[in-house]
Amino acid sequence: MPIDSVPLLDVQPSPPTGGPPARVFADVGPPLFEAIREGRHRKLALQVPAGLLRNAHDLAARLRTETGLPVALVARACFGACDFPSRDEAAGADAAVVLGHSPIPNVAIPMPMYFVEMRTAGGDPGHLARIVDAAGLPKRLGIVASIQHLDLLPALTTALAAVGREVRLGTGDRRLYYAAQALGCNYTTAQSVASEVDAFLFLGTGRFHPLGLAFAVDRPVWSLDPLQGTLEPPIDRARLIARRQLLVAGVRDAARWGILVSTFAGQHRGGMAAALQARAEAHGRSAEILVFGRLDPADLEGRALDAYVNTACPRIALDDFSLYPRPMLTPPEFLMALGELPLEPYRFDTYH
Ligand code: SF4
Repeated sequence: MPIDSVPLLDVQPSPPTGGPPARVFADVGPPLFEAIREGRHRKLALQVPAGLLRNAHDLAARLRTETGLPVALVARACFGACDFPSRDEAAGADAAVVLGHSPIPNVAIPMPMYFVEMRTAGGDPGHLARIVDAAGLPKRLGIVASIQHLDLLPALTTALAAVGREVRLGTGDRRLYYAAQALGCNYTTAQSVASEVDAFLFLGTGRFHPLGLAFAVDRPVWSLDPLQGTLEPPIDRARLIARRQLLVAGVRDAARWGILVSTFAGQHRGGMAAALQARAEAHGRSAEILVFGRLDPADLEGRALDAYVNTACPRIALDDFSLYPRPMLTPPEFLMALGELPLEPYRFDTYH
């Protein structure tokens, strides 16, 4: 099947590997309430991402009213579908409502979960296509989108065709629930069409996703905010990569490494950590595996270690490294530091 004929919104990949069911809803509304009532649960846990916290208590109250169930609000900050509430955090709940994310198909969940993607229909495709055209973007464009804006893609693709653009929408691996979807740790939808396009357009808000996309693909990445109707010019990829390569070069002689492993279900790469530890030891370095839930920079203070490699969310090392007391690399960067991978081409730590 040609990549761009894959149905965008009806892709139903394999369910999570074993475990209870994950159900997906566009927003908080009657279909969600009905499904929860049918589930005959005893208690719900509700997880709300940072961007929606202001409404968290109203949402919890609405869920209580509509379902008749007690609802425990999970207070820990969450950043993705990778760190949904564990059974321990769910305060006796036997099902969870997770807002703002789609499931990660290859991550097993510990209890039935209702993923509410908080889709928005906002954005005028014709207007957005004219903005892209006026900015002179190349003819062959790949598009990836955050989950909230996927519904706009069919109409935007048609509108871009009307202004002479050929759009490619890729399919990703089993960490992605939809075609053309972007996660901050996985841009395999983009990588699958990178050789067929001259630039990428990220459809969504903020810099988090375009920044990751710029690390992952060697193409200019433009950012189109469909709600504001703004187009941001490409991120300076060469500068991003050069900064990481400099960091790698600076820790080539580091003798004592810490290898960070997260306990979050969708961020746990214990097998990779063990493999990296073996590689470090083969190169005459020591490597201690450190296990954490949510990483706090203070947890790494005062340790007799020279540098870290982080097997959890790749964006911790790439975006937050300045918060940590010692250099922190991603797993591919660690292999570069050991001399097992070349510095070029730079390899993004795609979490598969
Ligand atoms: S691992 Fe990081 S980038 Fe990936 S889904 Fe989780 S929080 Fe987002």
